[in-house]
Order: sequence, then C-alpha cells, then structure tokens
Amino acid sequence: MADDTFYMKQALAEAEKASARGEVPVGAVVVCQGRIIARAHNLTETLNDVTAHAEMQAITAAENALGAKYLNDCALYVTVEPCVMCAGAIAWAQLGKLVFGTEDEKRGYMRYAPAALHPKTEVVQGILKDECAGLMKEFFRRRR
Ligand SMILES: [Zn+2]
Repeated sequence: MADDTFYMKQALAEAEKASARGEVPVGAVVVCQGRIIARAHNLTETLNDVTAHAEMQAITAAENALGAKYLNDCALYVTVEPCVMCAGAIAWAQLGKLVFGTEDEKRGYMRYAPAALHPKTEVVQGILKDECAGLMKEFFRRRR
C-alpha cells in the first residue's frame, strides 16, 4: 500500500507534465521488481495520435527497456482508469498488476469491457484518487 502510493505519486508527476503541455493530464509508470522502468504521459495532442495514451506509451517503453513483449512481473500505475483500448493493451502485455487512481465513468474499461484484462492481472484502484481526479477536473475547468 505504501509502495502503491509512492509509485502513484510518480505517475501523478507525469500527469502534471502532460497538463503543462496542454495534454489531458494522465500519467503512468511501469514498475518491475521495485524499479521504475518506464514513465510516460498522454501525448495525443503532441503526436496527433489518438492512441498515444499514457498507458500505451508506458507499455511500449517498458517492453523496450526489458527487451521483452510480456510484462508479467511488472505493475502499471496510471492516474486514471484505462480505456478499452488500453485495457486491451494491458491484457496483450500480460501485466501482472494494474493500479489506477480515479475511475473514468465515461471512457473507462470497467463499464464497457469489464472482462478485458487477463484474469490473473491484479487490480488495485483508488490510490491517491482525489489527487488524480483533481488534476483532471482542474484541466477541464481551465479549458472551458
Ligand atoms: Zn487509453
């Protein structure tokens, strides 16, 4: 639990970077055996790519770091509940654990594809939920 909070803070720092460059503030890190092997944030505006979600960036970076396509021994920390696309990617990569901060009632996978993840993937939600949700609320308030 203490570790989950620590790593979620790192994901939040990534989300703040996204916010600073005008991206929807979602950040992610991948942790493997106590070490952060990938840090990423949403880059859909910067890259003009709707698939450039924080989770997709983090998974690709982690796989490159390990030189492997499966991430069974890794945990993905992301500030907001993954969408269906990212949940699919998390399943393909066979992530051992998924930790997310706040749920996303509109686009989150739990509503549309609750069985999208691999059954062995451990899911923890609600870590630093208020901070994660707060960043999103503040971002969309400023954009209006
Ligand atoms: Zn996504």
